[in-house]
Amino acid sequence: MFDWFSLSMTKKVGGLSFILLSFLFVVILFSAYQSQRIYYNMMEVAEIDVPLSEIVAEVEVIQLRQDLFIESLQWHPHATSFNSPMVELQLNDQTEQDFRTFNQALASQLFKAEKVLHNALTLGSVRLKMTDHQALMEKVGLLHKHRIAFEKTLNKAFRTQSMSLQDWSVLEDIDQKLEYESDRMLRMIDVLTMRVSDAVEGQEHRFVLINAMLGISALAIGTYLTLYIILSFRKRVWSLRGQIHHLHHALSTESNPQREHLKSNNMRTKDELDELEDDLQILLSRFSSEIDNRQQIENELIELATRDKLTGAYNRRKWDEQMQAVLHLAHQGYAFSVILIDVDYFKKVNDTQGHDVGDKVLKVLVTELNRLLKPQRDSLFRLGGEEFAVLLKSGDSDDAKQLAEQLRHHIETFSQPDLPAITISLGVTGYQEGDTRQSLVKRVDQLLYEAKAAGRNQVVSD
Ligand code: GH3
Ligand code: MG
Ligand code: MG
Repeated sequence: MFDWFSLSMTKKVGGLSFILLSFLFVVILFSAYQSQRIYYNMMEVAEIDVPLSEIVAEVEVIQLRQDLFIESLQWHPHATSFNSPMVELQLNDQTEQDFRTFNQALASQLFKAEKVLHNALTLGSVRLKMTDHQALMEKVGLLHKHRIAFEKTLNKAFRTQSMSLQDWSVLEDIDQKLEYESDRMLRMIDVLTMRVSDAVEGQEHRFVLINAMLGISALAIGTYLTLYIILSFRKRVWSLRGQIHHLHHALSTESNPQREHLKSNNMRTKDELDELEDDLQILLSRFSSEIDNRQQIENELIELATRDKLTGAYNRRKWDEQMQAVLHLAHQGYAFSVILIDVDYFKKVNDTQGHDVGDKVLKVLVTELNRLLKPQRDSLFRLGGEEFAVLLKSGDSDDAKQLAEQLRHHIETFSQPDLPAITISLGVTGYQEGDTRQSLVKRVDQLLYEAKAAGRNQVVSD
C-alpha cells in the first residue's frame, strides 16, 4: 500500500511540488478558459444586445410618432349606403409624408433587427438562449407583417382619400397589434439582455469562486510544502549537529578552545548551515590535531622503545637496527666507525658506594659522553651493564680515534662531588671491506680487551 511517510524527502518534495504546480496550472488554464468565455459573452452583448437595445430605443420613438399620426387623422364618418358607411379622411401631402417617414424608419429598424439576429444565429455568435433569439426573430417577422398590412391599408386610403368603416377598424386593429407586438418585442429584448448580463455575472462569480478555491488550495499545499522542507531540513541539520557534538565528546571531555573562540568571536547571526559548517570545521581541526597528537605519542612510544630506561642512551635493539643500516650503506661505499666503551672496575663502585650510586654514575657518564658527540653524526648506545658504544655514521677511523681519546680524557678529568671518579677503556675500529656485524663487533671487542689488558683508561684501535 502507498505509504507517504516512508517516502524519501526528495520524493515527498517532488510529489508536493508537482501537485502544487498542477494546481497552479489548472488555475491558469481555468482562468484562460473563463476569460475566453466572458470575452465571448461580452462580444455577444456588444454584437447583439447593444444593437438590439439601440433598435428598441428607436422603435419606441417611432411608435410614439405612429400614435401621434393616428391621432392626427381627422375623420368624419358619413353614410354612402346603409351597409357601407365611409370615413372621410383629412389627408394632405404633409400627413402622407409623415406616414412614409415613420413607416420607412420602422421598416429600416425592423430590417436592422432582423439582420442583427440573422447574423447572430447564422454566424454562431449566440451562445446563450438560442431559442429566445429565435423567438425574437419570429416576433420581428410578425411585426414586419403587421407593418406591411398597416402600410397597405393606408396606401389605399391615400389613393381614395377615404376608407370604409370596416377598413378603418382593421387599421385600428393593425395599429394596436403593431403596438402590442412591438411592446412585447421590446420586453423580450430587455429580458434577453438581462439574461445575458446575468449569465456573464454568474460566470464571473463562478470564475472568482473557483479561482479563489484553487488559489487557497495551492496556498495550503505551498505552505505545507514550505513547512515540510524547513522542518525536515532543520531536523536533519540538528541530527547531524547532534552526532558531531557526540563525536566531540567522544574525542575528549575537555571543552574545546577553538569552539569557544568561534562562538564568542563571531557575532554575525548564523543560519543552520553556517552552524553546521562551523561544527564540521571544528570537528575536522580536532581530528587533525588528534591525529597529530597520536602521531606524536606514537613517535614518543617508538623513541621510548628504542631508549634505555636508566640512562636515556639508545638500547641494544636500536643498536642492532642501526648496525644493519650502516652496514648496508657501507656496502655502497659509505664507511663508518665504532667505539666500544667499558667502565673500569665498575663492580667496585657498586660494592663500595651502593647500586644507586652506580646507577647515577651510569646516568652522568651518558650525559658527559653525549656532550662531546656530534648529534648529526654520532649516536650513543648502551649495550648492557656498563658497556656502551658510539657509532660514527661518517668520517674515517682517525676521527673515531680522536673522539675516543677526547671521551676518555673527559671522563678521566670529570668530577662531581657526590660521585666517585671513574675511567673508561675504549676499543676503536672502522668498517673494513667484507665486514659483517659479527666480525666488526668481535674485532672491536678484542681491541677493548686489549685496552683493559694494557692497564685500562686507554684507547686501543687497529
Ligand atoms: P673491568 O670492566 O674493569 O674488568 O671491571 P668491572 O668491575 O667493570 O667488571 P665487570 O664487567 O665484571 O663488572 C660489571 C659490573 O657492573 C657488574 C654489575 O654488578 C654492574 N652492573 C651492571 N649493570 C648495572 C646497572 O645497571 N647498575 C649498577 N649499579 N650496576 C650494574
Ligand atoms: Mg667494566
Ligand atoms: Mg663490563
